[in-house]
Amino acid sequence: MHSVSIKDLSLNFGSISVLQNLNIEVADGEFLVLLGPSGCGKSTLLNCIAGLLEISDGQIFIKGKNVTWEEPKDRGIGMVFQSYALYPQMTVEKNLSFGLRVAGLPAAEIQKRIAHAAEILQIGPLLRRKPAELSGGQRQRVAIGRALVRDVDVFLFDEPLSNLDAKLRSELRVEIKRLHHKLANTMIYVTHDQIEALTLADRIAVMKGGLIQQLDDPLTIYNKPRNLFVASFIGSPA
Ligand code: ADP
Ligand code: MG
Repeated sequence: MHSVSIKDLSLNFGSISVLQNLNIEVADGEFLVLLGPSGCGKSTLLNCIAGLLEISDGQIFIKGKNVTWEEPKDRGIGMVFQSYALYPQMTVEKNLSFGLRVAGLPAAEIQKRIAHAAEILQIGPLLRRKPAELSGGQRQRVAIGRALVRDVDVFLFDEPLSNLDAKLRSELRVEIKRLHHKLANTMIYVTHDQIEALTLADRIAVMKGGLIQQLDDPLTIYNKPRNLFVASFIGSPA
């Protein structure tokens, strides 16, 4: 079964067409990377899937269910942004539990999920700290933890590592890969970084100007770029 299906999706901002008639099928458990230069529509597409933007045309299915008109919270997705979007006044533990308490989960279940996320992401010692007392890498782990505790089918990442320095970026890249192996859930990951795309992806969708230029596995993209744009974008430094 397909985890996420995007059918004939278009999005206009006023008279400007930002996404044009996109069709993408993401397999269950797949790690799909949306790769392209700044302004090509990656975040817009991710926000459409998350339900944060209303699409102009087309349909979105998650786990076979048409969610085109569903609220973000009812789509079964968790999202991690580039800026950490943590609640500054709450401890890490509260940041992790807040959404679950709002959703009315029993306290014991909340504790269980937080313990699980803390173990997987190695943030146990940080639970009583506030975001201001964390490094950038630690904050991003907590942000991933917030998606993790929700126990969702699909994770959406929007350039989660681009605010970090090179060393942390490669560390967290390995960690995200490990997380994907462990959870085996579907991940859609936006980046403009070719190395990140080539190392993380099962398949890469290379975008330009709101269109998909090529959707293939990393080796095929690397060895058989379909056009000059894909070839030069993959070959250029990040
Ligand atoms: P990316 O994430 O690939 O850098 P975006 O999805 O953020 O690109 O943006 C795609 C295009 O849509 C850009 O040209 C951007 O200027 C435009 N855009 C994004 N958000 C809005 C908005 N709210 N209103 C008008 N234009 C927007
Ligand atoms: Mg973006």
